[in-house]
Amino acid sequence: MSVLIRRIPAQGISPLSSPAPRGTILPPYPQRAVRGSLFETCSNPGCASGWLHLWRSRTAPFVEGGWTCSAACTAQRLQAAVARELDGRGGIVETHRHRVPLGLLMLEHGWITAAQLRGALASQREQGSGRLGQWLVAREGVPERLVTRALGLQWSCPVLPLEAHDPEGLAPLLPRLFLDAFGALPLRVAAGRLVYLGFEDRLDPVLALALERISGLRVESGLVQGSLFQPAHARMLQCDFPPVELLEAASAPALVTALTRRIERMRPLDTRMVRVHDCLWVRLWTAPQNGPVPDRAAVQDILCTIASQ
Ligand SMILES: [Zn+2]
Repeated sequence: MSVLIRRIPAQGISPLSSPAPRGTILPPYPQRAVRGSLFETCSNPGCASGWLHLWRSRTAPFVEGGWTCSAACTAQRLQAAVARELDGRGGIVETHRHRVPLGLLMLEHGWITAAQLRGALASQREQGSGRLGQWLVAREGVPERLVTRALGLQWSCPVLPLEAHDPEGLAPLLPRLFLDAFGALPLRVAAGRLVYLGFEDRLDPVLALALERISGLRVESGLVQGSLFQPAHARMLQCDFPPVELLEAASAPALVTALTRRIERMRPLDTRMVRVHDCLWVRLWTAPQNGPVPDRAAVQDILCTIASQ
C-alpha cells in the first residue's frame, strides 16, 4: 500500500481540536431504505439545481447521512470529505508520549528481578528480534499475565477477556486488511452501543477512532493476553468479511472522480469516509442496518490510497 501521508512515529495521541463529548457526535447507522421525503433537500451546500431537484425522482445515494440530487453534488460532498480527512480534521494527530519502559515498570512492581530483566535483555540482543515481554516469558519463566498487566499499565488501558468470542458475527465491523495490518481483534459488542477492540501488545488509537466514526459505536480498546490473542486473531482472519475494493488514485481529484462513479452506480443508503493511517476507508451501506453490527451483505468497503501525496 503506498504512502498517503507521511506517518509520524507515534507513541501516543492527542485530539486535534476539542471534540464534542463522547456519544453525542455519532450519527446512527442508516436504517431507512429511501429518501425520507419528497421534499428532502440536497445535502450539498453548493448545490446549483435549486428547487428543480425536488422533481428528481432518485431516492439515493446518501453521502455521510445526506441525500445528493446529482452526480455533481455527490462529487462535491466527496471532495469536501476527502479534503477534511487529508487535513486531519476528522481524526487525531499522533504525538509522542513518554512511556515507562516495560522492564523498569515490572521491576518497580516487583514482578521481575534485576537478573531476569538482564537475562531477557541479553536474549533479545543476541537474537536481534522479539519483544522484551516475550523473552521474559520464554526464557525467564515470568508469567504471561504479569507481562500483559504491565503492558496495560504502560498503555493506561484495561486487559480485556476473550470469552464467548464470535468472530463470524463481528467480522463486518472492520476490513480484514486492517485486522491483519494493525493487529486488531474486535472482541464483543456490549449493550448495542459499545465495542471492545483488543490488541496484543500495543494499542492503535487511530484505528479505534476510525472504527468509532464508521460504526457509530463507542470503542473501548484494551490488551488481550498474547497466548489467547494469537489463535483468536488467526481464527478471525479465516472468517468471511464484507466485499472490499482496493483503490489507488493518482491524486485527490482522481480519487473523488473514481468514488463518485462507484457511488452513483451503487446508490448506497449511506457512505462514510474516515482516514486510517495512510489510507482512506470508505464504507457503503447497500441495505439498511438492523443492529449494531451490519450484515456482511449490507456493506461494502473501499480502501483508498493516493499515490502523489
Ligand atoms: Zn444537489
